[in-house]
Amino acid sequence: MIDENMREIKRVSIVLANWCPHCVPLSKEKAERLAKDLDVPLRILDIDVLTQLKTADKLVEEHGDFTEDYIIPQVFLEYDDRSIEHVLTGFSEGVSATEKAWNTLFTSKYYHKLLDQKEQKGNAALREFVKEHLVFEGSCRRHCTQPTSFVGLQHDADRVVGVYICPDNYVSKVVCFSTNIEIEWFRKFIRSQVKGNIFRDRDVRIATRHGWELGDEAYLELREVNPTCTVVEAYWIVYPQTEAEKTQGVFLCSNPEKEKGCGKLFIQKIDTKNKLCQDCC
Ligand SMILES: [Zn+2]
Ligand SMILES: [Zn+2]
Repeated sequence: MIDENMREIKRVSIVLANWCPHCVPLSKEKAERLAKDLDVPLRILDIDVLTQLKTADKLVEEHGDFTEDYIIPQVFLEYDDRSIEHVLTGFSEGVSATEKAWNTLFTSKYYHKLLDQKEQKGNAALREFVKEHLVFEGSCRRHCTQPTSFVGLQHDADRVVGVYICPDNYVSKVVCFSTNIEIEWFRKFIRSQVKGNIFRDRDVRIATRHGWELGDEAYLELREVNPTCTVVEAYWIVYPQTEAEKTQGVFLCSNPEKEKGCGKLFIQKIDTKNKLCQDCC
């Protein structure tokens, strides 16, 4: 059985004829929207063009509603594992019926599932790339000498935010990897979690990482994630400046063993061993 989460849509195909009012402009436009929403190309197969007719016949015969004089339009999703899904056939009852079917499709659970899958793929791509190429092992600074690990806090298609923490949850660095520069967003994100003066806007620095400096394999992977082949890293190295600030530390509220923690940053005395913020204790 095909694992539906593993395969990816790579193209939308529509079999149509220019003289058919179900097809043009109605279904052609709807198919354009479908392809745009799914971020894949649209292939138009016009049955009045001999070379396209052959491909259209084969597609309908193998995956659609085939009779000798088959109904048009017919719409298909093509996946990267070569499987093909029939999505819609025009309604001989009337153009308005075909239009209604399209509109219902766009609001259906089925359609939202397709969009979700697309989104998850996009989300996973940057996260995987960051994990593979941009996260490093290090050791804790200013707090202890234990090794640090990267913990993701949140991510979407073009942003991954995480922290480097030691086993005591002390945060030495907060990082935002993104396909666009998001320095203002990142500042707001930190300010919303870290109260007080320990964080200043000017403490955020940025560094652009290019595919070519990360190796050929990374270069090819990054090209899939972002056509410009770059990831911008905005980061805050927690670096208290006043004597008062030096007694404080930024910590991550998280205790996976007890399945507790809100995953937010909080401040406590640097020698305190609480892994949970006040709200979660
Ligand atoms: Zn530490
Ligand atoms: Zn908490």
